[in-house]
Amino acid sequence: MIYLDNAATTALDPEVLEAMMPYLTEEYGNPSATYGLAAKARTAVQRAREKAAELIGAEPDEIIFTSGGTEADNMAIRGLYKVAASDRRFDSGMPEIITSAAEHPAVLETVKSVAEYTGCGTKLLKTDKEGIISPDEVKMAVTGKTGLISLMMANNEVAAVNDIAAIGKITRERGILFHTDAVQAFGHMPIDVATMEADALSASAHKLHGPKGVGLLYLRRGIRLPAYVTGGGQERGLRSGTENVAGIVGFGKACEIAKRDMLADMRRIKELRDKLVKGIMSEIDDVILTGPGIDMGDQRRTVSGASFAFKNIEGSSLLIQLDMKGICASTGSACSASEAGPSHVLRAIEVPDDYINGSLRMGLSKFTTEEEIDAAITAVKASVAFLRSIW
Ligand code: PLP
Repeated sequence: MIYLDNAATTALDPEVLEAMMPYLTEEYGNPSATYGLAAKARTAVQRAREKAAELIGAEPDEIIFTSGGTEADNMAIRGLYKVAASDRRFDSGMPEIITSAAEHPAVLETVKSVAEYTGCGTKLLKTDKEGIISPDEVKMAVTGKTGLISLMMANNEVAAVNDIAAIGKITRERGILFHTDAVQAFGHMPIDVATMEADALSASAHKLHGPKGVGLLYLRRGIRLPAYVTGGGQERGLRSGTENVAGIVGFGKACEIAKRDMLADMRRIKELRDKLVKGIMSEIDDVILTGPGIDMGDQRRTVSGASFAFKNIEGSSLLIQLDMKGICASTGSACSASEAGPSHVLRAIEVPDDYINGSLRMGLSKFTTEEEIDAAITAVKASVAFLRSIW
C-alpha cells in the first residue's frame, strides 16, 4: 500500500505510540485526583501542554486541549463571537463574521450555525485563483460592524497558505477578534504566535502523526471565553471532562518531534512533492495543478500538498483505479466526501468546468519514499490513460 492521503490523516509515529503506551496501561490515574498515580497523569498532561506551546511560541496556559480540530474551531468561533457580541461597540446590532469560501466545513458550518442562531450577518471572502485570501481583500471587507474573522492558515484541498501575520496585523489594528484554523499547518511549517497576531488558533494531533481524537485551541492570554463544555472545570474551565491523557501525551510527543525534525522533514518532503508534481504535469496531458505553483515557495503552498485536476476524468473513478493499484489518495477533503458534486474549494478557485470533476489530492508525509512517488506517477499515468480510453 502507498499512503498519499496525509491531508486526511497521518500514520501514528512509533515514537508517539511508545510515549502513549504507559498512559493506556499502568498510568491510568485521573489527573484531577489527589494521589500519586493521578499526579503522574497530571504532570504528563502539563508536559504535553508545554511541548505544544513550545512548538508555536505560546505559553502553556494559552493551550486548551480539545477532542480535535473541529471542536477547537467550534470553541473558537462560538466563544469569540460571544466575546465580540458583548462589546459595547456592537450595542446597536449583532457583530458580523467574516470567513472565506475555501474554509473547512468545521469553520463554514460553525459560522453558519452562529449566524442562524444569532441572526448576525456573515461575509464569505473569495480566494484568488490559487486559493489564497489576500490581506487586501480582508482590508476591503472589514467594516465597523465586523466583530470576528476566521481564516485558515493552510488549505486542506489545494495546499494554499495564507499570510496570517499580515491579516492578523489588519485585525489587530482594528480591534477585531481573529481566529485561524491551522489544522493543516501546525507541525508542518514554522508558526510563531508572537508575531502572528491571531487571537486563537486550532490544531489537530492526527495531522502530525499523533493520535486521532485530540486537538488544541491556542487562545491568546487575556481573552476570556465562556465555557464551551461545562462540568468539572478541566482545561481552565473552558472544556470540562476527564482529560484524554494518553491522547494528549501522544499529541505532546508529536509536537516535540515536529519541533525537532520539522525543517529537515520539510526539505525532504518538498523534494518528493516536486518530483511528484513535475512527473504528473510532464507525463500526462490536460492536467492542471490546483492551488499555488510549486515554484511560489513554502510561504504560498504547503510542502506536502500535491493537488491536480484532470480534463474529462471522473475523480471518483480515478480513485478506484488508484485504490486497485494500492494507492490511497482522495478527490478533495475527506471530511466532505459526502459533498455532492465538485468541492466548494475547487468551485471557489474557479477550476474550469471540464477539469473540475477530475480532481486528485495527494498528500505526502515524512514517511513517504522516493520509490512510492515513482510508483504513484506511473499509477496515475496508467489510470488516467485507461479512463480516457473508455470515455
Ligand atoms: N480544519 C481543517 C483545515 C482540516 O483539514 C480538518 C481535518 O481534515 C479539520 C479542521 C478537522 O479536524 P479534526 O479531524 O481533528 O476534527
